[in-house]
Amino acid sequence: NAPISQADPEIASILDAELSRQQDGLEMIASENFVPKAVLQAQGSVLTNKYAEGYPGKRYYGGCEQVDKIESIAQQRAKDLFGAEYANVQPHSGAQANAAVYQALVKPGDTILGLALDHGGHLTHGMKINFSGRFYHAEAYGVNPETFRIDPEIIRQRALETHPAMIIGGWSAYPRIEDFKAMKEIADEVGAKFWVDMAHFAGLVAAGLHPSPVPFADVVSSTAHKTLGGPRSGFILAKEEYAKKLNSAVFPGQQGGPLMHVIAGKAVAFGVAGTPAFKNRMERTLEGAKIIADRLNAQDVADNGISVLTGGTDVHLVMVDLRNSELDGQQGEDLLASIGITINRNTVPFDPRPASVASGLRIGTAALATRGFGNKEFEEVADIIGTALAAGRNADTDTLTSRVDKLVADFPLYPELNQTK
Ligand code: PLP
Repeated sequence: NAPISQADPEIASILDAELSRQQDGLEMIASENFVPKAVLQAQGSVLTNKYAEGYPGKRYYGGCEQVDKIESIAQQRAKDLFGAEYANVQPHSGAQANAAVYQALVKPGDTILGLALDHGGHLTHGMKINFSGRFYHAEAYGVNPETFRIDPEIIRQRALETHPAMIIGGWSAYPRIEDFKAMKEIADEVGAKFWVDMAHFAGLVAAGLHPSPVPFADVVSSTAHKTLGGPRSGFILAKEEYAKKLNSAVFPGQQGGPLMHVIAGKAVAFGVAGTPAFKNRMERTLEGAKIIADRLNAQDVADNGISVLTGGTDVHLVMVDLRNSELDGQQGEDLLASIGITINRNTVPFDPRPASVASGLRIGTAALATRGFGNKEFEEVADIIGTALAAGRNADTDTLTSRVDKLVADFPLYPELNQTK
């Protein structure tokens, strides 16, 4: 039982290097976050040894007394946090949660209607080579070409044309709030089920800072690891009438044994997400995104053909539009990486460049808010990004890197963590 530094020095040194990478840069990938130490401990626990096929009280394995308690607590906390009648905390990932939603709500070959991938939708909302596009007849709605916003009237028109069995809300790269009530009314009008994948904005919903889809959607799925700040995994919420179908769609429909160590991490994260400190963190997340959007709307940035999609943001991310800029998405991503800021390039709606290069940047603030950043620090981050993008190839990367280094030093991440000893 030697520590990993002795048992497997090769892997240990990579773990240490990854910890340093996270500590030494500014993490602004909109789908990432930093879990608290308590979540790391739950995930690194002996629960990883336990098989527990089934659900609490109805397992196919012995020795489940302790894991039953953990899963029941996780379910109850998820229900309380989001005001849901039913919760399933077993999905290993967001994609698996979504696969279970399809299995429970529609039949193979049925038509589904979700936001187009290149307008900010997710792979599991109908992409051609994803299971969702292969086993279901996937139709898509796009954003309004003038406002770049999701527009209920466009969804309604598409729904009337395509007769979907299920309408999908939620997104991976979109900076605004959707109208869940209007979407539910459209679903009712065409006789479709309504599913919302709130993976990105679940933390904002938990904090009461984003409208909740729970009262409107038949089923809501999510990941636990984006704004919500929990372990990498998924979960599902629903009205009680879907409980039986969803339970069997997750297990045995999509999965075998649940990852009990991850479920313990989810329970911890749901507990954290109900605290005033978490709400404060989500407030800083939202403010930070607005500060970045404001800086990128400034003249010195706009002069270079760079703008902010929809002009701003209601959520934890900003979509930068480079369609009129010489800088493409790949170059923007590389430029920011060269000064210690990690983001990802992304297509924007009606993107003239191929997806591998893309004309957009997706910049998120959740991880830095977790690190402790408030308005003052986000103003500095916003100015670093704005100055870098405005200057493009001529950016003074040495000066910008030293400004990043100062922020990183002022807000240490996992200062006491020693994961390999
Ligand atoms: N749903 C949405 C909206 C997402 O953005 C993502 C992840 O990017 C997922 C689902 C998939 O989650 P996972 O990567 O855990 O499968």
